[in-house]
Amino acid sequence: MRIVLLGAPGAGKGTQCKYIVEKYRLLHLSSGDILRRHRAQGTALGKKAQSYMDSGALVPDDIIIDMMIDEIARAPAGGYVLDGFPRTVKQAADLDKALESKKQKIDAILNLQVNEKIIVRRITGRRICPKCAAVYHVENLKPRVDGKCDKDGSLLLQRPDDTAEVVITRLKNYNEQTAPLVDYYKRKNTVFDIDANEEAENVRDLIFRKLAPLA
Ligand code: AMP
Repeated sequence: MRIVLLGAPGAGKGTQCKYIVEKYRLLHLSSGDILRRHRAQGTALGKKAQSYMDSGALVPDDIIIDMMIDEIARAPAGGYVLDGFPRTVKQAADLDKALESKKQKIDAILNLQVNEKIIVRRITGRRICPKCAAVYHVENLKPRVDGKCDKDGSLLLQRPDDTAEVVITRLKNYNEQTAPLVDYYKRKNTVFDIDANEEAENVRDLIFRKLAPLA
């Protein structure tokens, strides 16, 4: 199964991806996580992406498309969930071309819909482990020991792009550049609109019901 998760920053894409990949044994390909890995490793790609990411801007299409098509090419045959990619119509069109050349296509697009007030609360309260990328929230998903990762004890951080100021830029970019993808996909693929304002487990159950007939 090949799945794309669409949704504004803070819609819960990363959380839902974890549920989906576990149940269907798929590879989770998060463009944001892959970029953060490049940055942590100090690669040339990571250095190029840094300033765009910290200001909440999208990294240029050519950099992202090459990076993600390369990751997808190495994915196992069972399939994958794309999280955060594609984010522009150009990225989606280039992904389609790459898949078509292998006689493949995306099987389902999950469009997570969340109201903006909830998004801002989710993002500004988010804390991440710089070592293992585990995600916490200062109110809804607290670690066992305040400020430390449950898995490896690292000090939790707020992503530089999760501050209230940068969130506004990210939402604007989403509305202008990524939201049009929903219509792009509705013309040719199966798109499931998912109400993602609810608790994560309820959203998960909704998604599983939509995916069941495809599995
Ligand atoms: P995320 O973790 O998905 O919120 O991504 C963090 C940041 O990485 C974004 O704000 C962008 O700067 C960059 N990024 C991630 N995925 C993409 C993409 N598909 N296209 C452009 N920039 C991206």
